[in-house]
Amino acid sequence: MPVIFFGHGNPMNALDDNAYTRAWSDAGRRLGRPKAVLSISAHWYVPGTMVTFAERPRTIHDFGGFPKSLYEVAYPAPGDPALAARVAAALAPAVVTPDLRWGLDHGTWSVLAHVFPEADVPVVQLSIDETQPPEYHYALGKSLSALRDEGVLIVGSGNLVHNLEAYAWGRHPAEPLDWAARFEARARALIAAGDDGSLVDYEMLGKDALLSAPTPEHFLPLLYVLGARRSGDRVSFPVEGFDGGSISMLAVELGRRT
Ligand code: ZN
Repeated sequence: MPVIFFGHGNPMNALDDNAYTRAWSDAGRRLGRPKAVLSISAHWYVPGTMVTFAERPRTIHDFGGFPKSLYEVAYPAPGDPALAARVAAALAPAVVTPDLRWGLDHGTWSVLAHVFPEADVPVVQLSIDETQPPEYHYALGKSLSALRDEGVLIVGSGNLVHNLEAYAWGRHPAEPLDWAARFEARARALIAAGDDGSLVDYEMLGKDALLSAPTPEHFLPLLYVLGARRSGDRVSFPVEGFDGGSISMLAVELGRRT
């Protein structure tokens, strides 16, 4: 299986039909049917590494101020407690706490609703430990890489550039802000060159990086995906574009594409 980072952007993408959501659907058709999805979402950013063990994970509507129709979305994909146990084992000696209270947050379901619209692929979520530095998350990605051989699709869901303070709410200009475009271009080049180290140390990449990832949670899912990279993986960017000037919708796929 390849590994994919999705830029999820506005939660309304769950219901919208636009260039991003169509590219997500295309990705799903290309991927076929993985045995399961392991999702690392920006929106489960907590003190600790947890993994969902629920047989029937609930759909979490973890946002405010959106239309009622978005709160009515359900993504009833089954869980996969056996996979959750394998994830915990793969991450040892990192401490992984089994979780029965979370579920699927919108970082996961707003995208998967388009990638696997039948909600028939089991989904497990892994939290991002907010107390740990970037290299920890990259190392966890490396430990998860072996799951690819079992037909598990590892998905990171965040946004390579995510600055809500600069976001043009409701206006959605097509043109990205200068620093956002510069950082995205630089990150793309580093990903394509296999320079994961510079991305793990993204805070050292200067002001553009600090504006693009003013908080770490939307950037860190990318480090799990890069960590799970194999030598020989082809790099592609199946979704491109900016929303509101300061949200990169870039998707990064690493794998042997035919
Ligand atoms: Zn988000």
